Amino acid sequence: MQIETDFQSDEEYQTLLKRFKKLLKSEQLKFTSQREKVLETLYNSDTHISSEELFLLLKSRDENIGIATIYRTLSLLEREKIVTSLYTENVKKYELSHKKHHDHLICSVCGKIIEFVSQEIEELQDEVAENFGFKILDHNMQIFGICKECQNKGKN
Ligand SMILES: [Zn+2]
Ligand SMILES: [Zn+2]
Repeated sequence: MQIETDFQSDEEYQTLLKRFKKLLKSEQLKFTSQREKVLETLYNSDTHISSEELFLLLKSRDENIGIATIYRTLSLLEREKIVTSLYTENVKKYELSHKKHHDHLICSVCGKIIEFVSQEIEELQDEVAENFGFKILDHNMQIFGICKECQNKGKN
């Protein structure tokens, strides 16, 4: 079985930034460097990130940003489908939705997220939908379990 694991988007940061500025304008919100930092950090992150992690990361870089700004910016981005979210251990984690389609394996012990796509699974899903005369708009598979590292910890 062939499994793909690279889903980085080809979208350039400037294009994304333009969408973001337009969105802020339509919400009558000011474009600020704090708000941009949220977008930029998501863009440069190769993993899913929670609002608290984003906050701590920006703090560690001496960015002057309040957690409320992060919450509000993330929820706006999510509402506009610029970011998507999922839950690991009840913590909401975000990623930019411009990444190529992929599914998730989520570790219930350490919260690690493994991204993958199996063309065979994708095709099977299409077949299932077709069987029901169902038109797929989107899907997001999340498989919960225990990652290799956490299983090995249990053995010692
Ligand atoms: Zn784990
Ligand atoms: Zn993902």
